[in-house]
Amino acid sequence: MVHNYSAGPCVLPQEVFEKAAESIRDYNGTGLSIIEMSHRSKDFVEVMDRARALVKELLNVPDGYTVLFLQGGASLGFYTSAINFMKNEGGVGAYVDTGSWSSKAIKEAKLLGDVRVLASSQDQNFNYIPKGYEVPTDVDYVHLTSNNTIFGTQFKSFPESKAPLLCDMSSDIFSKSVDVSKFDLIYAGAQKNMGPAGTTVYIVKDEALGKTGRAIPSMLDLQVHSSKDSMFNTPPVFAVYGSMLTMEWMKKEGGVSEMEKRNEMKAQLLYSEIDRNALFEGTTKAEDRSNMNPTFVLKDEEAHAARFDQMWKNANINGLKGHRSVGGYRASMYNALGIGSVRVLVEVMKELERTA
Ligand SMILES: *Cc1c(COP(=O)(O)O)cnc(C)c1O
Repeated sequence: MVHNYSAGPCVLPQEVFEKAAESIRDYNGTGLSIIEMSHRSKDFVEVMDRARALVKELLNVPDGYTVLFLQGGASLGFYTSAINFMKNEGGVGAYVDTGSWSSKAIKEAKLLGDVRVLASSQDQNFNYIPKGYEVPTDVDYVHLTSNNTIFGTQFKSFPESKAPLLCDMSSDIFSKSVDVSKFDLIYAGAQKNMGPAGTTVYIVKDEALGKTGRAIPSMLDLQVHSSKDSMFNTPPVFAVYGSMLTMEWMKKEGGVSEMEKRNEMKAQLLYSEIDRNALFEGTTKAEDRSNMNPTFVLKDEEAHAARFDQMWKNANINGLKGHRSVGGYRASMYNALGIGSVRVLVEVMKELERTA
């Protein structure tokens, strides 16, 4: 068994792969593959409806919100979120810059209007979540990135905002409970907790749409997609189906509260070893540590990196190398990574110390 710490696309439940493989050959005894049937067929419309309903159920989405499965990744979401919320005349979007993904979101929004960066943790290579800044009311929206996948930081609570709150939750959606009613828009690429790459989920407050006074291209217009029940054009059928299967797995396992409990336990186990082991140190401020993407380094790389890398590879661990902008290691621990895999990693870290 491979212990898959890949940052995304990432580990998904084994049973999802089995069901998906079967449905590629023959979906539900129809004699057709899930990827060769019409997206307007009764069978596929059921998949789309079920996937949308599961998002609502798992995240307790209140009435008045619509769930969409679109394409373009969260990277298109940066622009899509801005164009649906920033006023045409004198538009201003406010951003908290927690690194890489939020910086990219800021770049896209600047194509549409003014951007106000409320706070940034760039001064310390994004190793913390800024706090204590004033949240403005005279902006069209406030945009956050709930979890920084690359630097390994995570908002443990969200700022209160009178302006619509938009959030890129790509790398921690479904990992813990969240009060959706605080947000006008949540978006997330599928490939980090929800399913295979190829679709992006949008959870949008209906009454917030249609207020910018802009002409929005149809494919970027959340109102257009909403009015067509997420079927304005051919949806990414396999990615939606795989997401549906993964959400069914989450539900069967006890839902998001159970995922949260497991993720807390996994994070606790790994961070306590990072803190205990004299050879390692974490790279982020302890209070802002991500439960999804712990990042850490060897204090003396020259002395230990070659041997540590060999040891974890021998233990069948995959994907532990840190992102090039941080270096060191990143152990992405999405929902489907079992705690057994974390025990294997911790054991390797202990063994390195014992034999150093
Ligand atoms: C991975 C990631 C993205 C980019 O997602 P794509 O689907 O590759 O466009 C954006 N934001 C966050 C927080 C991510 O983790």
